Amino acid sequence: MSTVVFVKEQKNNESRCSCLPQNISSFVKRGMKVCVESGIGETIHISDAEYAAVGARVVIDRRELLKDADFILSIHPLSKDELEFSKPSACCISFLDPFNAREHISWLQNSGRSALSMELIPRSSRCQKMDALSSQASLAGYVMVAQAMLALPKVFPMMMTPSGTIKPTKVFVIGAGVAGLQAIATAKRLGASVIAYDTRETVAEQVRSLGAKFLDIDLGETGQNEQGYANALSQEQIELQLQAQADCIKDADVVITTAQLFGRKPPVLIKKDVIREMKAGSVIVDMAVESGGNVEGSISGENVVYEGVTLIGKGNWSSDVAYHASQMYANNLQALLFEFWNDEEKRPVLDLNDEILQTALITHQNQFINPSIKALFSQEIN
Ligand code: NAD
Repeated sequence: MSTVVFVKEQKNNESRCSCLPQNISSFVKRGMKVCVESGIGETIHISDAEYAAVGARVVIDRRELLKDADFILSIHPLSKDELEFSKPSACCISFLDPFNAREHISWLQNSGRSALSMELIPRSSRCQKMDALSSQASLAGYVMVAQAMLALPKVFPMMMTPSGTIKPTKVFVIGAGVAGLQAIATAKRLGASVIAYDTRETVAEQVRSLGAKFLDIDLGETGQNEQGYANALSQEQIELQLQAQADCIKDADVVITTAQLFGRKPPVLIKKDVIREMKAGSVIVDMAVESGGNVEGSISGENVVYEGVTLIGKGNWSSDVAYHASQMYANNLQALLFEFWNDEEKRPVLDLNDEILQTALITHQNQFINPSIKALFSQEIN
């Protein structure tokens, strides 16, 4: 019988967890032994007793918890010092920031542990149920609008009242991927007038289908890769974009930036000269703040006011709706383990010929598996 372990998140400002009681029931039904760290659900108001009632062993001591684990599941990666207490054959599954956390990835490979990065689950129809980037980004889109709404000294919808007519708030969304589309839909539901821009032209139709306008900017060849991620723009194209969207930004009450480039630093799309020309009281939400930011002057983990404009850079957005974010993330993990379920062995078996694992598995039995990570580390060695 293999043991799956869910740890309590330790990071400051993290209210999500990786497992709900309903997931425990599903694992136990399949014949797995499940252990959870005491307090795992306290931030979302789920007690240890609720986990125990559906068959989990609740463990207080983390060393004790990790020592028999075959699968270690979490949102953020555990440190090397903690993983030293686990078996070298253990498989760790979490977000791993694989292109940046090189020292940790290197340790995982050297130690023989298998590491599966939730960021590297392919963006395919088969993987939708395991796609934690999408589940969390979608909630982030909703949260960013809610935060903008609270910071803006205006209401979103048009109101015709005996006390006067209020015009709808103007929202400009830059980047209409998973988070951007949810932000557009949320702002529309609240009655705002919404316009959006994305370098991938295929998105224009999706934006319009939500009732928003699409800002047409001709940047020449832009495109996307086979996973649906945007290609990086040339410096010339970025300059063109900054000029073409400037009027839209100055006119907006709220700007939400969600432009990311997978595995690379996000582009800076709003500079201080444009912010200075925005109406005082306006709000910019920078989704990309933790990885470098789309907005000049935004600070990770903070809200700052620059020339009367509030720059919201809180980050870790989905943690603000921690219950549903945990539910979705936990379901993504469950779907992933069940995808590789072997009925005879009554446990998930990692099949290295499977295209999901060829991409999402970073290290396994002292080897690098994901081709980009393998290439990255072989460059470092040579
Ligand atoms: P992302 O977080 O990497 O980027 C967010 C958005 O920013 C993208 O839409 C991108 O085009 C845009 N962007 C990049 N540079 C920009 C710039 N300079 N200006 C304006 N916008 C810019 O992307 P994501 O939201 O994770 O997903 C991107 C796409 O991946 C999706 O829209 C979809 O096509 C695909 N996807 C597919 C699946 C699936 O098939 N299961 C799941 C999720 C996503």
